[in-house]
Amino acid sequence: MKYVSHYECVLCETRYPKTYTGNTCEQCSDQGILDVIYDYEAMKETVTLQYFKNNPKRSLWRYAPLMSVELNDFSQTLMVGWTPLYRSYKLAKSLNINTLYIKDDGLNPTGSLKDRASVVACMKAIEQNNRIIACASTGNAASSLAGNAARLGLKTVIFVPKRVPKGKLAQLYSYGAEVIKIDGDYREAYALSKSAINTFGWMNRNAAINPHLVEGKKTVALEIAEQLDFNPPDWVVCSVGDGCTIAGVYKGFYDLIQLGLIEKIPRLLGVQSEGCNPIYKAFKYARPLELALENTIADSIAVGIPRNPLKALKAIEASGGAMMSVSDNAILKAGKILSSQEGIFSEPASAAALAGLIKALEQNIITSDERVTIINTGNGLKDTDAYTAQMEEIPLMKNDLETFKEYLQRKGRKL
Ligand SMILES: *Cc1c(COP(=O)(O)O)cnc(C)c1O
Ligand SMILES: [Zn+2]
Repeated sequence: MKYVSHYECVLCETRYPKTYTGNTCEQCSDQGILDVIYDYEAMKETVTLQYFKNNPKRSLWRYAPLMSVELNDFSQTLMVGWTPLYRSYKLAKSLNINTLYIKDDGLNPTGSLKDRASVVACMKAIEQNNRIIACASTGNAASSLAGNAARLGLKTVIFVPKRVPKGKLAQLYSYGAEVIKIDGDYREAYALSKSAINTFGWMNRNAAINPHLVEGKKTVALEIAEQLDFNPPDWVVCSVGDGCTIAGVYKGFYDLIQLGLIEKIPRLLGVQSEGCNPIYKAFKYARPLELALENTIADSIAVGIPRNPLKALKAIEASGGAMMSVSDNAILKAGKILSSQEGIFSEPASAAALAGLIKALEQNIITSDERVTIINTGNGLKDTDAYTAQMEEIPLMKNDLETFKEYLQRKGRKL
């Protein structure tokens, strides 16, 4: 918190002192999401190129001075962040672009970018002496919170929609969360979590509402910049659900501009699924957000009432970016491409980013000479059914070499 100056409502711009412990603006309630504002002049004295060069921490805590956490002992947390940024050669070639990077956040301890926010939520809970954290989630925020909390000895109460994928549920069960499965969709899970949190006074990890979580998510952008020697790409592509991830990506690059460490903020391409694309529609038609059905295989971005549309839309606009909407079919195809060409297995919501990039290239929104980074936000092991459902049946074979040879011949397969 050392360099936090104050909080500011994204809607009415009312300022709140850094001692304010509410989550949202008193005047605007849930629409009035707060933004953490820093004193960059003071921060500049510590956070320099040399600071990064000399920093041995290989986790998101290397960015602690740029975050809104008070405690400074991070030795007990899971190791979140500092995930690899791969240069892609094969996929770049097949897409006919010169420079493509993949930031693999599926390698975080619970398998998604959400760990960056969850570990911050846990630290805030410890700061505030609150031992119980609650959230509603399509899956990853939940499993990530449960995992990070388990490590730190905190309790979690998790509200999930009826069709949460098995992989995520298995994580929740194993991490020991109190799981409440709602007979309904994410919107309903969110509504019950909100009234339960208000009633019982638990710590709220609902990402949009809690201003500190975007500060955790922004570390993905700080890492992308640092891993590219502070020469960030022209475009960063990621999928959009509530909108906190893309808002965080913007904030990370914004911080670095303020510190004079980079010269431009990459343009942001936000991607939603055709089955649930309220932020895409609000952006494209420049009209107020309308709620949407949650009808897509990409469960992590199936968010019918996004909670952070304002921050997300502002981020995309301010970066000179764009939005894409892609079909479930295109998402599954992109997931297969990412796995088979780069060895990166991604859940559908994450593969949506690549599907969006492919579409943006077709429409000449992104051109082949621009440098692009896509963020792999979630590991494919979380939702294996999405992929096995499309597999053709694999015949059972006897343990017999002749049968195997005949099979290869019949199929015309050369290995
Ligand atoms: C949560 C999530 C997103 C989208 O993040 P928002 O903050 O909801 O916009 C994208 N991909 C995966 C895998 C996620 O879990
Ligand atoms: Zn306000």
